[in-house]
Amino acid sequence: MVSVKRLPKRTCIICRGKKPKQSMIRLAAVGSEVKLDLKTRLDGRGVYICISKSCRLAQLEVSKLSFSLKTIVTKQSTASITEQLRTLINE
Ligand SMILES: [Zn+2]
Repeated sequence: MVSVKRLPKRTCIICRGKKPKQSMIRLAAVGSEVKLDLKTRLDGRGVYICISKSCRLAQLEVSKLSFSLKTIVTKQSTASITEQLRTLINE
């Protein structure tokens, strides 16, 4: 049973592409706040975004995030997470 090794794939909320978890960034909802969950340790519902520049730097929408996270996230929190994604990696 445990011998079956599958790479878990996640869907990017920006491009809808499916990629291995390792090449994605997880965002988790903590109450109405969205947090970067780089170690994927936060409980609760999470969404994934590709680590690629085009997705990482895409404009996140409150409505999209709220829908995907099944919670109402604040505009402020969305803005802050956008900023964090922007400054996360500078290649
Ligand atoms: Zn993507």
